[in-house]
Amino acid sequence: MILGIGVDVVETNRLDEKIAVRILGEKEFEEYHRASDKKQFLASHFAVKEAFFKALGTGLRDFSFKEVELVHDDLGKPVLIFHRDVHFNFAHVSLSHDVFTIAMVVLERSEGHIYIALGSNVGDRLRNIQNACRLMEEFGIEIIKTSPIYLTKPYGFLEQTDFLNCVVEVKTDLTPFRLLEVLLEVEKQLGRTRKQRWGPRTIDLDIVLFGNLVLKTETLTIPHYDLINRQFVLRPLLDLAELRHPTEGELKKFLKEGEECQLVTRNWYKN
Ligand code: ATP
Ligand code: MG
Ligand code: MG
Repeated sequence: MILGIGVDVVETNRLDEKIAVRILGEKEFEEYHRASDKKQFLASHFAVKEAFFKALGTGLRDFSFKEVELVHDDLGKPVLIFHRDVHFNFAHVSLSHDVFTIAMVVLERSEGHIYIALGSNVGDRLRNIQNACRLMEEFGIEIIKTSPIYLTKPYGFLEQTDFLNCVVEVKTDLTPFRLLEVLLEVEKQLGRTRKQRWGPRTIDLDIVLFGNLVLKTETLTIPHYDLINRQFVLRPLLDLAELRHPTEGELKKFLKEGEECQLVTRNWYKN
């Protein structure tokens, strides 16, 4: 479902460079210093943000200029980064410049397209993963696709038992922040304690992808910050669909051949 559409046009040379400190976020500012055409840079960033506010339908009341940033993916396509919770899972952006700069933003909420990685290496690992899925469903998060489960070597902290890992696709109306809260509650109910970073755990539930969103906040980063380096997440994720990372591009280019993931079972849920 399309939630909103917004468009904005500005005269490319009109904006005073003083506006930069008011509208650019941290990441944008880094790029601004390197930009050869600063007027065009400001016009695109201003127009995109205005178009986004219109698509939100709330004007400036909720989001501020610095809470949404414009960056580019591996192919140069414009991508938005959000620094607070949102109610959509796809943001589409298009830009064009000449004497005028025009920006269009479409916000969409599409069922599914939300991927959660599960991992366990304490107790009955398979049972922990199954129970986590059941609990998620009790909280109203519907599991619509499950990857095979793989046996994988520990990551980060190596002196611990091997893991079982998989990825599921879910359908939920929860926002990213609400979803994280529910996942942390499910982890807690399954006896997760945090004694050591990357240490042993009954269950770990991480949001891997949430549509094409890029979200960067203190408590939540989407896509998962280390996705492209983790074979134990990439392998099961790409079993579910050919997926793109919103800024890094095709995910299959990060997949490595090797024995890092050993197939354990394909049918482990609701059979
Ligand atoms: P890693 O994040 O490296 O996989 P971990 O999963 O063991 O390590 P946790 O202790 O499970 O780390 O999570 C710590 C915090 O990470 C969570 O409380 C949450 O606020 C934050 N976090 C940030 N981004 C995500 C995400 N995409 N999915 C889940 N938690 C996230
Ligand atoms: Mg994790
Ligand atoms: Mg985690």
